[in-house]
Amino acid sequence: MGDWVHDGGRLCLDLVNTLRDRYRGGRELLIAPEALAEWLREVGLRADSSPVEAHVAAARELREAICQAVDARAQGSVIAASDVELINEAARGDDRAAVQLRAEPDGSVAAFRPEPRDPVRTALAEVAVDAIELLAAEPFPRVAVCAYHRCGLRFLDTSPARNRQWCSMARCGNRAKARQHYARRKAAG
Ligand SMILES: [Zn+2]
Repeated sequence: MGDWVHDGGRLCLDLVNTLRDRYRGGRELLIAPEALAEWLREVGLRADSSPVEAHVAAARELREAICQAVDARAQGSVIAASDVELINEAARGDDRAAVQLRAEPDGSVAAFRPEPRDPVRTALAEVAVDAIELLAAEPFPRVAVCAYHRCGLRFLDTSPARNRQWCSMARCGNRAKARQHYARRKAAG
């Protein structure tokens, strides 16, 4: 169904990349609750209940807050307070899903996680927590925008020289090289 890509290198950047083609204002992939359900499955987040429209809106809001926060961090500027608030709120998720302690009369002790009331919100909280960990990393790693002029995907650059250009060699690297090759041939007559 979705035209998903998983080249962000981080869960939170993969969410950012569900708005494709940011170079031209964006192409929405989280178009419906079914699309969000599919994305959650694709990234391996468990959500036992089906998303509803409100979850789609929440996912998109979280996504744009993460995108703006990461861009701000990459540029060395201050992250907007409203984005911090939104990410924090999402990270709290469903508070019933926190780890709990159980002590039985027979002396046995166990840690357990209650079933969340809202599994989709709980899954989105994991994305928000991933964003918090990325944003708070010191030094901040290189999060780059794909150099292909018709892409706009964000990715975490873990190359040794921190000079990775493309979100993916297979998709954008080869397209860019073909373009350069064509331009050179054209220039050579
Ligand atoms: Zn790309």
